[in-house]
Amino acid sequence: MGITEEHRIIQVDERDTVAIVVNEDGLKSGSLLKNGIRSAETIPQGHKVALRRLPEGAPVMRYGEIIGYAARDIAPGQWVREELIRMPEPPQLSGIHPVLSPPAFLESLDGYNFEGFRNTDGSVGVKNILAVSTSVQCVAAVADHVTQRIRRELLPKYPRVDDVIAIKHDYGCGVAINAPAAVIPIRTLQNLIRNPNLGDEVMILGLGCEKLEPQRMTLYPDKSSDTADIIQLQDEAFRGFSGMIENILTIAENKLTRLNRRRRETCPASDLVVGMQCGGSDAFSGITANPAVGFAADLIVRAGGTVIFSEVTEIRDAIHLLVPRAADQQVARSLLREMDWYDRYLELGEVDRSANTSPGNKQGGLVNIVEKALGSMVKSGTSTIADVLAPGERVRKRGLVFAATPASDFVCGTLQLAAGINLQVFTTGRGTPYGLAMAPVIKVSSRSSLSRRWHDLIDLDAGRIAGGEASIQEIGWELFHLILAVASGKHQVAADRLGLHNDLVLFNPAPVT
Ligand code: CA
Repeated sequence: MGITEEHRIIQVDERDTVAIVVNEDGLKSGSLLKNGIRSAETIPQGHKVALRRLPEGAPVMRYGEIIGYAARDIAPGQWVREELIRMPEPPQLSGIHPVLSPPAFLESLDGYNFEGFRNTDGSVGVKNILAVSTSVQCVAAVADHVTQRIRRELLPKYPRVDDVIAIKHDYGCGVAINAPAAVIPIRTLQNLIRNPNLGDEVMILGLGCEKLEPQRMTLYPDKSSDTADIIQLQDEAFRGFSGMIENILTIAENKLTRLNRRRRETCPASDLVVGMQCGGSDAFSGITANPAVGFAADLIVRAGGTVIFSEVTEIRDAIHLLVPRAADQQVARSLLREMDWYDRYLELGEVDRSANTSPGNKQGGLVNIVEKALGSMVKSGTSTIADVLAPGERVRKRGLVFAATPASDFVCGTLQLAAGINLQVFTTGRGTPYGLAMAPVIKVSSRSSLSRRWHDLIDLDAGRIAGGEASIQEIGWELFHLILAVASGKHQVAADRLGLHNDLVLFNPAPVT
């Protein structure tokens, strides 16, 4: 990565024909860049400057890859903005032959531990939470009511329980419950209950006449289906609302008693299941925050732990770079299968992957989804892809795992929780107050100006990499240590400190009736 000191620009790969402006006040017109090139106009921070003449049709290169083609002649030093770049076609899936060249085996990393809550199925929680799940939207307000009362009246008596949360959603009835794609929201709800931070003590509120019968949601394989955990509001034993609530609070108190007996114990870093996500990306995301996250991902994998990366539309244009990293042909085929499923899902909605990039991404310097994807996929680090999960599936292998999800922050977060993450790392360039109630979210900013402005919302500043104050490796190690501290309950992330938790959002590609 070359940095020119006077006017800071970053060229990631020597083949690149554009570089990113680092200076917070942008690049003034006439600034000397390199090889005698001067900027032809004023260019804002995060945006691209042409490093050479690009005749119409010439490839525009960033990260050593083609992010588009010059829509007309571009002069050296010119601001290479969105309208000057024609987006390339996505890699044809049928043209990708899974020739595997798995990355070199990474050296193992021993001796790193955290203090977590060991569950009966072997998974480890980093929080000790009571959850009230719901089988249908009809009971959502009741779930809110009881969680508020539990928090106010019961939780103070059980100091070792971190929180009580409601798992609410708009699914459960008025849907084509047997449609092939309904398997996604249903297994998501089943697997959310099994999230390691919930200690096998979830209760389920149902109504009684809904399509998604609450019995379908209990899936503890090592527990006989515990129907005592299911409360149906239409149960004829209940006299009025107060009768329902009394019953629910009694069950909750039993569960709180059991959860309160749990203690943290020393667990190896191999018990970590860390989800990686980004939201509100900018042109810095791919050179600061995401590479540092990728470095930390490699450290977790080297320690024997699990890293989950996702967001189909943000890796689709880089899929030709990911398939060769598959552990075997089966994993390679699964990766291509998930890309193909999503291509057809978008086609059905009459959009393509360019629907992904937001106005904020573009203001932040990203011209299109190809550039965004190349910067996004580096969150996965460099290791072999051990497994691929379809949306809503639960993790079954250690190492680096791709869990197919939309890129939407809330949908991806929900599906990663269902996949079984105990913690999430979230990178942002534009800034978002994003947080999850079920798992701590460590927010990493791609630029220092955001970290300064949002000093109490951002957990780690990766912008120091662009400023030359820290290396990718240094921030990666810092993040790894922060993950262990958060997993141990020794450090509270900003979103938890402030109580900022987004709603869960189910992915339901099946028809609503
Ligand atoms: Ca996202």
